[in-house]
Amino acid sequence: MNYVDGFRRLEAADHFRSALADHGHKLAHWGRKIHLMEVCGSHTMAIARFGIRDFLPANVRLISGPGCPVCVTVPGYIDAAIELAVQGKIVVTFGDMLRVPGSRTSLEQARAEGGRIETGYSPAHALELARQHPGTEVVFLGVGFETTIAPIMAMLDGGIRKGITNFSLLTAFKRVPPALSALIADPEIQIDGFLCPAHVSAIIGSDAYRPFAETHGVACVVAGFEPLDILYGLHGLTQQLVENHRRVDNQYNRVVKPGGNRQAQGILERYLEPADTSWRGLGTIPDSGMELRPEYQRFDARHRFGITVPPGRPNPRCLCGEVLKGKIDPVQCPLFGVVCHPDQPLGPCMVSSEGSCAAAFKYTSGAIP
Ligand code: SF4
Repeated sequence: MNYVDGFRRLEAADHFRSALADHGHKLAHWGRKIHLMEVCGSHTMAIARFGIRDFLPANVRLISGPGCPVCVTVPGYIDAAIELAVQGKIVVTFGDMLRVPGSRTSLEQARAEGGRIETGYSPAHALELARQHPGTEVVFLGVGFETTIAPIMAMLDGGIRKGITNFSLLTAFKRVPPALSALIADPEIQIDGFLCPAHVSAIIGSDAYRPFAETHGVACVVAGFEPLDILYGLHGLTQQLVENHRRVDNQYNRVVKPGGNRQAQGILERYLEPADTSWRGLGTIPDSGMELRPEYQRFDARHRFGITVPPGRPNPRCLCGEVLKGKIDPVQCPLFGVVCHPDQPLGPCMVSSEGSCAAAFKYTSGAIP
């Protein structure tokens, strides 16, 4: 970035700060706080890192949503993955799952006790391991939203084409729109606007949010991850509220199309079908997950090895469920920074690089207004 770019960005940031203050002033007659939810964990991190909350007027509160895939994965899933490792399978996972507590222990601890648990940087890494170890079953932990599901399905497609058969998925796939519907339906949660996730929207398209705006009256803006993208998105949300015209604004149209990525949608549809699934903190939400279609169940570790994935037992003192619904800020958890911190996390929200508690601890020392 050169000096001219830097000044332009500062100018733009200043413009958004004063425009947001103006919107806050115009919305003061509501007589209550306005609640905007950033759905995506990457937004949560960027908001904390760049001090975006400092730009908001006092009557606008930014709350974090359930868009951190690691955070919403139930402890029973970790238990099932550990069981597979104990059975002698090679379990491959993205690194941020390693320290997430299951009902009793974590994958990291299970690895220290001898379980064959490998960290993979892409789904292709798991497929390569399966190719290198033809006599051993390799299970990839498929955790994520639509953005992550697409490359995992592309990897499965590649494995099938190459005739690799010692390979399966333990899925905890989640779909964003049903989770947003569940949040809107919860009478204890007030949401005036969604800052919609950028990467997920690249797959599902901005039109996917239209029911939230048109039927439920929730303002929606798709925004990118740069600080100015986020400020622009928050400005767009408050503008919709000032104009009393709820709609879906796509402010990340350099990446996101109204209909999304048809090729990615095609591969999801070919291999997967919607299924009810459990979310940490949100419970079971109808059609909010995706499971392999019956004709591909041989690649589903549950069916292949006859295991179940119960919800499991989260640490009863951890309030991640409340944090994920935006009911409390991380600092309101009595354990925050006292006995729960990134070196010794009690819940997934403190483990994940996209977790609200980790973001608050790392960038704001918990000082969320
Ligand atoms: S601070 Fe720790 S214990 Fe509290 S909600 Fe966050 S992760 Fe759970």
